[in-house]
Amino acid sequence: MLNIVIFGAPGSGKGTQSQRIVDKYGLNHISTGDVLRAEIKNGTELGQTAKGYIDQGQLIPDELMIDILASVLDGFRDSKGVIFDGFPRTIAQAEALKKMLAERGQEVSVMIDLDVPEEELMSRLIRRGIDSGRADDNEETIRKRLAVYHSQTAPLIGWFKEENKYHHIEGMGSMEEIAAKIVEAIDSL
Ligand code: ATP
Ligand code: MG
Repeated sequence: MLNIVIFGAPGSGKGTQSQRIVDKYGLNHISTGDVLRAEIKNGTELGQTAKGYIDQGQLIPDELMIDILASVLDGFRDSKGVIFDGFPRTIAQAEALKKMLAERGQEVSVMIDLDVPEEELMSRLIRRGIDSGRADDNEETIRKRLAVYHSQTAPLIGWFKEENKYHHIEGMGSMEEIAAKIVEAIDSL
């Protein structure tokens, strides 16, 4: 089983690269951002709750997020493995993921950190906001999301290093170059 955590700041390219890995290795993909956006689109109660946080550039509370993740994971029965895109985003989520996988006799295989300079993240997200119309891709909310990333999510780098799962990848370069480095990291496991 390959359980890959794809990690990085907002706009680091997690979604794009996940899609490539999914296609190559036949994994299931969990993008917590996509799950939440689907709930919003369908007008569910969960979606309404999530929208309040997302529009403010804040994280959805851990307990809620962990429940969502557990139920998606339960849907993947005979899976070759999972790519976790956008989860964990806090230490509490990382601890919960470790426990959930352990209960299934599994563990995270590797955490891939897509490291992209702040100015590049900012310009990518502003561009994406113009193209996709994603409500949280406006300058003010992007700044908040980056601040939340630094305070709540970046500490996971140290956490995964202690778990001996950390793999750093330079996130600047073409999509193909970055994809090739990710494949190399996975194939060397
Ligand atoms: P990327 O551009 O690399 O895909 P992103 O940060 O722009 O990353 P998503 O991963 O799609 O976008 O997340 C969008 C929003 O959904 C987050 O800003 C947050 O409010 C919420 N969210 C997603 N995953 C989580 C999580 N694990 N915990 C809490 N909130 C989350
Ligand atoms: Mg995404």
